[in-house]
Amino acid sequence: MKRISIFGATGSIGQSTIDLIKRDQAAYNVVALTGGANIAQLAKDARALGAQIAVTAYESHLPELRDALAGTGIETAAGQAALIEAAARPADWIMSAIVGAAGLAPGFEALKHGTCLALANKESLVTAGPLLLAEAAKHGARILPVDSEHSAVFQALVGERICEVERVIITASGGPFRNWSAEQLKGATLAQAGKHPSWDMGQRITIDSASMFNKALEVIETKEYFGLNPDQIEVIIHPGSYIHALVGFKDGALMAHMGMPDMRHAIGYALHWPERRDLPVERLDLVKLGSLQFEAPDDTRFPALRLAREVMDTGGLAGAVFNAAKEAALDMFIAGQIGFTDMAVVVERVLAQMSPDLGRSKVQMSLETVYDADDEARKRADAVRTTL
Ligand code: NDP
Ligand code: MG
Repeated sequence: MKRISIFGATGSIGQSTIDLIKRDQAAYNVVALTGGANIAQLAKDARALGAQIAVTAYESHLPELRDALAGTGIETAAGQAALIEAAARPADWIMSAIVGAAGLAPGFEALKHGTCLALANKESLVTAGPLLLAEAAKHGARILPVDSEHSAVFQALVGERICEVERVIITASGGPFRNWSAEQLKGATLAQAGKHPSWDMGQRITIDSASMFNKALEVIETKEYFGLNPDQIEVIIHPGSYIHALVGFKDGALMAHMGMPDMRHAIGYALHWPERRDLPVERLDLVKLGSLQFEAPDDTRFPALRLAREVMDTGGLAGAVFNAAKEAALDMFIAGQIGFTDMAVVVERVLAQMSPDLGRSKVQMSLETVYDADDEARKRADAVRTTL
């Protein structure tokens, strides 16, 4: 039996992972399930899967979790230390699907114990890529990409040599505002930004897709995970999301990974790797599809991609600052404090303020310095907000 834990079990990726596990429950021994505020879902799944322990990120929700699991024999715990303790429990495979920089520390802990980390939490690689990869190498732990584009690149590289890769192209749907003018974008509402045309995802990543910040994070994630130069990474708008990524080799060959936009493919690939097993995803009907559409991204209306290039040039803690400023700006947009296009303004100003001190030659990267940079960036983002 494969011992597995799911961090962020109550979210979109977590629930898709649980859907796959439930289809073949006898094959898995569930160690830890973690969530945040959605205690009803966490308790329901912990019971259904017979988890060893259920952990909520918030101490204030512990009494509710205890009540919900009373008499089941399932352990309960809460808070950051409990998340780390759960990540340290012996397991063969851990899904890292907490949203935001909060997902970094539990994933890092799992790697310390040599556990295979299925990484949906892209923020881990954006904020602390070199640290994470070094820790994995030190303990002989595997990191398997779950983000659909990165899973696609990973699959296209099986049997290939990374030194023969010329370029990697990751696709972006373009989100709901693909054809909106700069003027229209200023008035984009939360409800409009929260509806993705092709993928069904959590609220935060859906809004990040509308602003292209999601793709910006993914460009950095590609650089970190595959060790590519920034100029080898391209983004192309492909509204249908049927091609997830393409890998171009030095002989001119271009390998595309295609499939219906359903995260259970990438999750299932990481779950069963290095095997492939039957997955409950709809098969792509190419005749029905007829044709594929591509466009160049527009850095003027969507500055996020341009900012990602700056972050990669700066290196060091720039990724941590970029991500934290983006998370803070997203919180402000969700709270109705700033407009849609203000998010990029906040991130750009925080980066400009902090960049001179962040470069790879100037700072030592550790979990502590990453979280310090994250903290400072959020404070500065708040200060920028008051000037808008
Ligand atoms: P969701 O918002 O749907 O779920 C997030 C999960 O994290 C929930 O379980 C939530 O708990 C928990 N959580 C939230 N805040 C904290 C915190 N501070 N500490 C601990 N746990 C917390 O997100 P998604 O599933 O959409 O995304 C998860 C990750 O996967 C993100 O990094 C995202 O970028 C990445 N990803 C997602 C894709 C998708 O299709 N959804 C595709 C590719 C990557 P609760 O809800 O109980 O409060
Ligand atoms: Mg993606």
